[in-house]
Amino acid sequence: MKEMKVTLRTLTPLWTGDAWGKSDKPKLTGIIGSLRWWFEALVRGMGYNACNSTPDNKCKIEIKNPEDVVKVHKQICPVCYLFGTTGWENRFSVDIESNDLKKLYDGKVIVKINEDRGWHYESGLTGNVILNFRYEDMFIGKKDKDLTMDQVFPSILKILLYLISEYGMLGAKTSMGYGVVKFQIDDKDIQITEDDWKNFETFLSMFPQKNIKNLPNLKDMFFIKFGVKSDVSQLVNNMKQFYTYQDGIVEGDVDKWKDNGWGITSPVVRKCLRCIFRGKYSEKVCGINRNCDRNYWWVKNQSIEKPNRNYTQSKSIDFLNLSKNESKNLRHFLMGSTSEPEYSAIQVSHMYTDDDNLEFRIWGWLPDIRPINSNVRGILQLLSSVFNETPWNVNLPSSIQDGICWASGSLGKIEDKIKQLFIVDGENHV
Ligand SMILES: [Zn+2]
Ligand SMILES: [Zn+2]
Repeated sequence: MKEMKVTLRTLTPLWTGDAWGKSDKPKLTGIIGSLRWWFEALVRGMGYNACNSTPDNKCKIEIKNPEDVVKVHKQICPVCYLFGTTGWENRFSVDIESNDLKKLYDGKVIVKINEDRGWHYESGLTGNVILNFRYEDMFIGKKDKDLTMDQVFPSILKILLYLISEYGMLGAKTSMGYGVVKFQIDDKDIQITEDDWKNFETFLSMFPQKNIKNLPNLKDMFFIKFGVKSDVSQLVNNMKQFYTYQDGIVEGDVDKWKDNGWGITSPVVRKCLRCIFRGKYSEKVCGINRNCDRNYWWVKNQSIEKPNRNYTQSKSIDFLNLSKNESKNLRHFLMGSTSEPEYSAIQVSHMYTDDDNLEFRIWGWLPDIRPINSNVRGILQLLSSVFNETPWNVNLPSSIQDGICWASGSLGKIEDKIKQLFIVDGENHV
């Protein structure tokens, strides 16, 4: 049995319960489920099949004779091959070796920016947990020579954990800001080498290729990181005006966040993003800045209605010339709706400290499917311009076009584009 020791450190609190349940201690099923989700997106991005891992649609296999094992790659997807499915055991296991994750406070912080219902933040978990990944050095298949788990699994795990550390988020409620984590293997930061990438590609090449576009796919995703020109203590102090406290939490609890280098900030950024997707059909005013040039309405209530003098159509969704309904569906898909606040295609993290830098990240999935199809390019163009001229006090490491994975013919082969997220000119991507 081979073993890899992985340290998970939270940068913003982690939520491993389901979206509605409690998250008092780390749940392995939640962590593994999230690893699987990212691996599916990566595999699809590389042009291979990853099934929709719901019970009805998951790959199934029945191994009756030893010869059936040789054909397994034709019958189940690369994700089910490693993570397991009906009739096929997972090729690795994970357990928690030690855990010092804890809740930072009891009760809830409610973040209210204007008349909305507000966002409710229970603590989630912060700290470290050590995970043991174990696998047998089993035979995988025959390529030029015999391929075994030992030759590919360490590289695949590194790539997967690197993806989540650098760009993604882990667990549930990521759209609310939870789940920025940093993984280390054997106490070292993860670096992806050309050899790792080759091993991953060799593993994939055992399976048939397939294009899947209606499920999360790395090639339709973008990832942006923003450096923040402030310090965490000032940031938390500024945010306090939007906080109210419920069920046992006291204001002093919030000051402890400063030592942990993070603060609840996602709602403010989301609020600003929402503004650009509102346009003239939505009747809401900007919750943050009365002169916001992305919001059509200057004042809107029973007695006074005035369009915003500073409104710039090109900075809002109106630039796409959609109908009222299209515009609403698109906004709900991208930013969530009150009926489904936990789901949104765009995820905004809280601010966190990584290597002494204060930053936050935004990532999203913009597939060429309803209701956003045919508008994907326009949305990207809009986001690019917004991110290059942000309403937040930030430094931009790159424009969205550089951070994006999504590409069409002109941008070269998509698999190369994805590889660049991990390795740049043989160097690690920073
Ligand atoms: Zn599958
Ligand atoms: Zn605004």
